[in-house]
Amino acid sequence: MPETILIVEDELSLREALAYNLERDGYKVEAAGDGKAALEAARRLQPDLLVLDVMLPGFDGFEVTRILRKETNIPILMLTARDEEIDRVLGLEMGADDYMTKPFSMREFLARVKALLRRVRLMREEMDAEDLPKQAELVFDNLTISTTRHEARLDGKTLMLKPKEYDLLLFLVRHPGQVLTRELILERVWGWDFGGGTRTVDVHVRWLRSKIEPDPSNPTRIITVRGMGYRFDG
Ligand code: CA
Repeated sequence: MPETILIVEDELSLREALAYNLERDGYKVEAAGDGKAALEAARRLQPDLLVLDVMLPGFDGFEVTRILRKETNIPILMLTARDEEIDRVLGLEMGADDYMTKPFSMREFLARVKALLRRVRLMREEMDAEDLPKQAELVFDNLTISTTRHEARLDGKTLMLKPKEYDLLLFLVRHPGQVLTRELILERVWGWDFGGGTRTVDVHVRWLRSKIEPDPSNPTRIITVRGMGYRFDG
């Protein structure tokens, strides 16, 4: 069955070009031109991927991401017009999986879509294949990760985690005691095609520590292994 992609872009010529090329590559494509239509179509279609422009009439792409992330884990590829750090950080913080800065070539776009879908497939397969995730709850002292509810609790209280913080935590707890390099973490949690650098990993580790470490300045759970990466010690 072909994968379904929802394109949300208000610029008609770009929207049509993206749709045309994706369809030619064998995907099933639907398109929307504003935030409200995007939410409606995403809920109805449950697409395999959402390609989402930031600057939209009505709700912008950030708002659409914020709303959708409360409901679903649909992978989101965000399109931004400006190569501004603030857009990138904001988009990723809100739960976009990757982003591209306009203008980009169609070839680059198709490669990114393919890679993102492949990564999502691999991650799902890995989750199915591994033994640990079959446990609905992973317990590390006062920290509990519920893989069915996609949430983590500390002392019984649900933590407010951004989607990528949760993904990172899940990846760490599935490899306890192993030294994980930043590059490996970046590849497995964000994908090798991800536009950001390994600093993204450090930033998310810092955010996670502030939520799960008793003393974030002296971490005992997510340990920094100098010159190597990170290790989860439970
Ligand atoms: Ca736009």
